[in-house]
This record gives sequence, structure tokens and C-alpha cells, in this order.
Amino acid sequence: MNSLDGKVALVTGASRGIGRAIAHQLAGRGALVIAAARGDNARGTVDAIAAAGGRAEPLTLEVTDADAAVAAVQGIATRHGRLDILVSNAGITRDQLMLRMKRSDWDDVIATNLTAAFVLCQAALKPMIRQRAGRIIAISSVVGQMGNAGQANYAASKAGLIGFCKSLAREVGSRQVTVNVVAPGFVATDMTGAVDAATQAGWAAQIPLGRLGTPDDIAAAVCFLASDEASYITGQVLAVNGGMYT
Ligand code: NAP
Repeated sequence: MNSLDGKVALVTGASRGIGRAIAHQLAGRGALVIAAARGDNARGTVDAIAAAGGRAEPLTLEVTDADAAVAAVQGIATRHGRLDILVSNAGITRDQLMLRMKRSDWDDVIATNLTAAFVLCQAALKPMIRQRAGRIIAISSVVGQMGNAGQANYAASKAGLIGFCKSLAREVGSRQVTVNVVAPGFVATDMTGAVDAATQAGWAAQIPLGRLGTPDDIAAAVCFLASDEASYITGQVLAVNGGMYT
């Protein structure tokens, strides 16, 4: 079970929802988890991991601040001597129908969901290439695969992550760094919590497995891709969506 003993993992968006579950499960498998969020928001995740006997430290990071992101990755590599796993999970929505979408709704979503992943991956590749080992896992969305009315900005950012990771996988495979994407379906978190119960019931009715996903469903897929068992898997999109899109 402790297949990630000795690994150092950075998880963005680790204060709640999917990122918090990923941080917990990675730590439960033995990794030292750097749990990142804005302000002191990841403190609760770190305390809960410590209470469960795992190892974690909080990191204050606004992912759209490129200089801060690069410095954060360099700091981890300096403090711990390595960085084995990057989970680029922080993400936002700014939903609006296209004709009403503001340019800032587009820019904010692309900056947080896509450009921040580019910056973090570029920084993380330096220690990973030096180590001749690494795991990069980006959290996309079923919406990036199938599209969704009212989410043109979000779908573009999440589809962009897929093309980005597939390209990166081809560039760094020779250094034994794998790059994969997890594409969740609808998952019960703060992000979906803003949607009314009737809409959520409508989603569940379209899902062959009959329910929304849980953060732990997504975290289990991330842990698999981070493990040694997944060392021959790269450039893939692992859909964790209850069968709603195949
Ligand atoms: P969530 O509950 O809204 O949590 C979002 C996380 O991202 C928080 O930890 C938040 O940290 C962090 N974050 C947002 N903007 C940030 C920024 N500018 N700088 C640093 N951190 C930032 O979301 P979630 O549902 O867990 O979603 C996690 C990921 O899964 C996202 O990429 C999302 O697009 C994707 N996803 C979610 C679903 C779903 O149904 N929930 C489905 C498919 C994909 P703070 O504490 O600092 O706010």
C-alpha cells in the first residue's frame, strides 16, 4: 500500500475538493505532500494528513503568479532534494453563455486552468529530468472532451491541457518522466455545489453508474498514475466519469 514511500509530491488546489482528496491519498501511500493553495487555505489538509500519520507541508501559492510558482517548485527541490510528482489540479469556472461572456471570464479561466499548468510543469521538469524520473498529472475534465454549453472558456482550458500533456509526454518520455491527464466527470465538490439539486439529479440520470463522482474516486486514479505500476503509461487521458462519456 505504501508504494509512494520516499516520494515528494506537489498538489495544487489542495485546500478542498478533489485536490484535498489527492493530497490525502498520496500521503496515505507514503509520499511527502506539499499541499498548495492561496493564503493559509491548505493548512487544514496538512493538519488532517498529520493526524492520520502522514507527512505534508502547506504551501501558499497563487498559481497565476508565474514567478511565485517557479520559486515554489525550486524551493521544494532545494528543501527536499527532489520532486517526484506534480499534480496540477487548481482550477476555476466562470460560466456564461458565449454571447454574454466577458473577456475577463475567458482570461481568468485560461490563466488559472491552463497557463498555470504550463508554468508549473516547466519548472517541475528541471528536477524531474535531473532525476531521470517523474510523474506529471494534470486534472482536466469531461467538459474538455465533450464540450458544455455555458463553459466555452472552461472547456477550452481543459481540452488545452490534454493537447499540452500529450505533447509534453512525447518530449520527456526519454527521461522517464510520464505525463498523463485525469478527466473527471461531475464530482460533488464546492465547484459543483453551486448548482441546484434538480440540475445535479439531471446529471446523475445521464451517468451509467447512476451517481456523481467523489473526490476519492478521482484521487485513486491519480495515485495509480503516480505509482511505479504506471511507469509504462504516458500521454494518456484517464476518464473517471462513471461512464457518462466514452
Ligand atoms: P474546488 O472545490 O472549487 O477547489 C478548487 C481548488 O483550486 C481550491 O483548492 C482552490 O484553492 C484552488 N485554486 C483555485 N484558483 C486558484 C488560484 N488562482 N491559485 C491557487 N489555487 C487556486 O474545485 P474541485 O471541484 O475540487 O476541482 C479541482 C479540479 O478538478 C479543477 O481543476 C476542476 O476544474 C477539476 N474538475 C472538477 C470537476 C467537478 O465536478 N468538481 C469535474 C471535472 C474536473 P483556494 O483554497 O486557494 O481557493
